Amino acid sequence: MNLRLIRNATMVVEFAGKRFLIDPFFAEKESMPPFPNTPNQDRANPLVGLPIAVEDVIDVDAVIVTHLHPDHFDEAAINALPKEIKVFAQNEKDAGTIREKGFLNVEELRTTTLFEGIELIKTSGQHGRGEITQFTGEVSGVVFKHPDKQSLYIAGDSVWCAEVEAAIDTHQPEVIIVNGGAAHFLEGGPITMASEDILAAHQAAPEAKVIVVHMESLNHCMLSRDELAGILKEKKIEGNVLVPDDGEWIVV
Ligand SMILES: [Zn+2]
Repeated sequence: MNLRLIRNATMVVEFAGKRFLIDPFFAEKESMPPFPNTPNQDRANPLVGLPIAVEDVIDVDAVIVTHLHPDHFDEAAINALPKEIKVFAQNEKDAGTIREKGFLNVEELRTTTLFEGIELIKTSGQHGRGEITQFTGEVSGVVFKHPDKQSLYIAGDSVWCAEVEAAIDTHQPEVIIVNGGAAHFLEGGPITMASEDILAAHQAAPEAKVIVVHMESLNHCMLSRDELAGILKEKKIEGNVLVPDDGEWIVV
């Protein structure tokens, strides 16, 4: 499979001959305010621009939207994507919201959804720990399976939790994409993976390639690529846990 990080959680996934766009977030650099009640209120979102033109990102067979937070599905993406494109949403509520934006071919991800010979298995996660999840809401991930291919697990906006551990145990993916950055509100712990969550994901699947995205794009993400790279190096796992730059392809 070929994976390209675009920016934040936006990725292009080439899997079993099909191209998927994950969590399209196309806003121009600094065109959105900082998230409220978060650190770094002097920094507008997104912190960085897209590494390539939107037109070069949207030529895909399907789009998967893990949840509807604006750093995963935004107005710029709504405007850029062709309305007939196949879109998978995490549940009927999100599917309805996406349809209201004019999309004509929206499908709710079920436990297992078959798309062009590829099994898409919906997983869940925790967008933070404790009370804050009442505010952050429901999130999802997806496992890609094909009889002839290595499997891929995209964990989505989740911290390390029982649901993510169960997905790894059940599906034994060879490639795992986690959302790092350790995003924070002013109160409460991280709502995306901090370094210890990423290390836990590696320990649960030491043979797998763990790819960390959702880095250095938003005002409230507190874990930098450099800091994480230092930790990975110290643990001597920088060959197993990859931290791509925006625009970088990873061939697995
Ligand atoms: Zn996010």
